[in-house]
Amino acid sequence: KKMSKEFDVVVIGGGPAGYVAAIRASQLGLNTACCESEAYADPKGEPRLGGTCLNVGCIPSKALLHSSELYDQAAHSFVMHGIKADKVSIDVPTMIQRKTNIVTQLVTGIKSLFKKYKVTFLPGHGSFVGQVDGKWQVKIADEVVTTKHVIVATGSSARHLPGIAVDQKLILDNAGALDINAVPKRLGVIGAGVIGLEMGSVWKRLGSDVTILEAAPDFLAAADSAVAKEAWKIFTTKQGLKINLGIQLKEVTPGKDSVTIKYENDEGEQTLEVDKLIVAVGRVPNTNGLNANAVGLALDERGRIKVDEHCATNLPNVWAVGDVVPGPMLAHKGMEEGVMVAEVISGQAGHINHNTIPWVIYTHPEIAWVGKTEQELKAANVPFKEGKIPFLANGRALGQGDTTGFVKVIAHAETDEILGAHIIGTNASELIAEAVVAMEFGASSEDIARTCHAHPTLSEAFHEAALAVDKRSLHF
Ligand code: FAD
Repeated sequence: KKMSKEFDVVVIGGGPAGYVAAIRASQLGLNTACCESEAYADPKGEPRLGGTCLNVGCIPSKALLHSSELYDQAAHSFVMHGIKADKVSIDVPTMIQRKTNIVTQLVTGIKSLFKKYKVTFLPGHGSFVGQVDGKWQVKIADEVVTTKHVIVATGSSARHLPGIAVDQKLILDNAGALDINAVPKRLGVIGAGVIGLEMGSVWKRLGSDVTILEAAPDFLAAADSAVAKEAWKIFTTKQGLKINLGIQLKEVTPGKDSVTIKYENDEGEQTLEVDKLIVAVGRVPNTNGLNANAVGLALDERGRIKVDEHCATNLPNVWAVGDVVPGPMLAHKGMEEGVMVAEVISGQAGHINHNTIPWVIYTHPEIAWVGKTEQELKAANVPFKEGKIPFLANGRALGQGDTTGFVKVIAHAETDEILGAHIIGTNASELIAEAVVAMEFGASSEDIARTCHAHPTLSEAFHEAALAVDKRSLHF
């Protein structure tokens, strides 16, 4: 057994992109190590694997979304089933503790996966030292290890705004927003993106008066316009989220137990006072402390590591994956890249179809899509036809007491190939997988129309939408 620390692959960063790259590389017989800094250390100061996603992102946010959704159902929807739950109340510390337990279980699980797949875990911050005899030297904590390949998977951090100091007590970013221990009476959110909408939804359901301030003039501009319109209607009218678009922030002043926000909109100067403020204005790539400059690792104008279609950087045998490279900042996109790089390193062919990466917003109703939106196709002059089916026409949705939203399938007008699928409705996050598989296999809408779907299921709405593309839906 080799005692010196020499590896085939060293992965810097143990988030979804990095830990998956490490596991796949090791599965392919490469001697692989993965390092992780103290950013998400456990109470004893030990670095925790899992990155943003497991520690302060995807997983804890979905845990809180589920808890708050159950509360909302108990408080407002049980009654239609004849279930009486008169005194529904929420114990926020228990909800937060459940979330924390889930995170702990999953991050510990990754350590076990590393053992199972023989990935060496090296706790500590990693940075480039340089290249010696065609091999890279990487400093991890106080030790220098040698490796043929380096995969940079250092992820991203919350973007903060100048003049708005995040103290995680009154003014929070995503980390603080997942640890609020009592329902704030008034909650402000800066940013109506995915994170702002998800966090705003959690606390709105639990009783907060939520105001979201967004600089962009359009709501959910990346989503299909029909979906964005429907979401706007549901969030602002049915759910009472106050969303102000096209605002310009002027001043944010923390007080003793409240925050005052001055902003401007069409109607002039506005003042908003809240008990807590969440700043959710995007993420910045983590390249500080990598010694990237000294070794000449090229970054783009937004500070992301420049990569080609195989995630190769400008340096030999240095690869980069996940949030630190261009593309959607989504865990599953990073994991795909991690697998691809490990396979390319081991001599296999790797490829990512960026057109079939699904997008999901875990509000209620959920929003999910894959492929092109209607407005993108119009702008590109691609001829298309569409089929749209409301969940109101779906027996299962009716039985579940939740018929909001629709499924929209867009296919090429001549070839009938599915170009995009857009879902707003309950379980959209799960339903979108069928559309992803269909598009990955280059399916036409007729392929889906001729595929038998179980009855009664929500997935029949996707079937009917595919039928509707050819104007032959059977139940609408
Ligand atoms: P990260 O997860 O950020 O991991 C990078 C890791 O590298 C970190 O642990 C960091 O500590 C470590 N690191 C950095 N520099 C060094 C260094 N020099 N040495 C050693 N270690 C280092 N995505 C989804 O797909 N679905 C969701 O539902 C979803 N929800 C989200 C909710 C929130 C609130 C947030 C903030 C994000 C969410 N995301 C979601 C995005 C998702 O978390 C990221 O896309 C994903 O974590 C990116 O993975 P990554 O491995 O590239 O980076």
